[in-house]
Amino acid sequence: MSLTKRIILAMVLGIVVGAVIHMIPALDETHAFYRWVVDGLFDAVGQIFIASLTLLVVPLVFVSLVCGSATLGGDSRLGYMAMKTVGLYLLTTALAITMALSLATLLGPGKGVDLATPEAAEFSGVEAPSIKDTLINIMPSNPINAMAEGNMLQVIVFALLLGIAIARTSGAPSRYMLEFFNNLNTVILKLVMILMQLAPYGVFCLLAKLFSELGWGTIADLGFYFAVVLLALLLHGLGVYSLLLKFFTGLNPLTFLRKMQPVIVFGFSTASSNATLPVTLRTVEKDLGVDNRVASFSVPLGATINMDGTAIMQGVATVFIAQVYGIDIGLAGYLLVVLTATLASIGTAGVPGVGMITLAMVLQQAGLPVEGVALIIGVDRLLDMVRTAVNITGDAMVSTVVADSETLLDREKFISSGKGER
Ligand code: ASP
Repeated sequence: MSLTKRIILAMVLGIVVGAVIHMIPALDETHAFYRWVVDGLFDAVGQIFIASLTLLVVPLVFVSLVCGSATLGGDSRLGYMAMKTVGLYLLTTALAITMALSLATLLGPGKGVDLATPEAAEFSGVEAPSIKDTLINIMPSNPINAMAEGNMLQVIVFALLLGIAIARTSGAPSRYMLEFFNNLNTVILKLVMILMQLAPYGVFCLLAKLFSELGWGTIADLGFYFAVVLLALLLHGLGVYSLLLKFFTGLNPLTFLRKMQPVIVFGFSTASSNATLPVTLRTVEKDLGVDNRVASFSVPLGATINMDGTAIMQGVATVFIAQVYGIDIGLAGYLLVVLTATLASIGTAGVPGVGMITLAMVLQQAGLPVEGVALIIGVDRLLDMVRTAVNITGDAMVSTVVADSETLLDREKFISSGKGER
């Protein structure tokens, strides 16, 4: 069985086993089986799996991006390509949030809902950083520190600069450095492949643990909200991306989605764009045929700033909370939400649950009660999994479109069945 199939099977089994454990009342947290197997074995394997992915993120992004920018560095294409990538990321996020707001307004998930209004101060969000601070923070003052902290934007800037410098250095030093980084890149990609063999076990354990804990009661209470977010996520992830891909490249969206399957499952199980990054990068280059010069820049950047799924959740959540509290934020309010949710999605780190924290920022800007977040937090983990899968699919779609427009997409590879790869 191929690795992808095993990972998907592990996902289904993990969900079923977890749900069954949750349904058996005797198997509660105090039971020895729960303590040893769910809290012990499943949790340990799941965490080791996430760590094994995260460990690769900084070295992979750094090395891959140095290779990419060193090859493009002398060329003015780099700046143009970067602008195109960022522009498309912003466009898809704005589309996502607009669609989410319209859908939520149309369906009204919060109308007539009578949930106990949560206590104030139960949840406190983050202050929106100023644009000035955000810009200053992109420039690394200490690259080693940036890597140690996993500050991806700073790592990206340092790698870009180093790559450009390598390209502009003449003669042997440039050649040797480029060769060194290219070799290192090949070795790291091999390591990704080796660690991916762990994935079926990791995915199974993560999901079995999560679903044994998950309370289904909250989902029933918030069923309508849950369904609207899910619907918007599916429409965007399957519909909007397919249309955009077809429109910009003429390529078959079904091939794209089929090849993205393992990445989607990784995103779903880890709920982290960052942890999934090694797999996204590998799939985008090896299976979709995006040249390293585009992928090494656009994929890590996307995992850091492009969060369409998160923006969708924030759009529906804003409308839901406004409806529950009976507040009309008006058209100007909605426009403000589009703007702040797009910015919030840039500021959302690709780790589990951060979208909920930046939602507080959006609510604050729209003049809605921040403690409304407490209303929906109960079902957020499941939605986080789905929205992370959407976030990552968006990164890969934009990378493919940008690569195609720069004639840096290997269309043969995109179309091929890709069986030889694994
Ligand atoms: N978990 C999401 C991601 O990593 C971010 C979020 O919406 O919380 O992409």
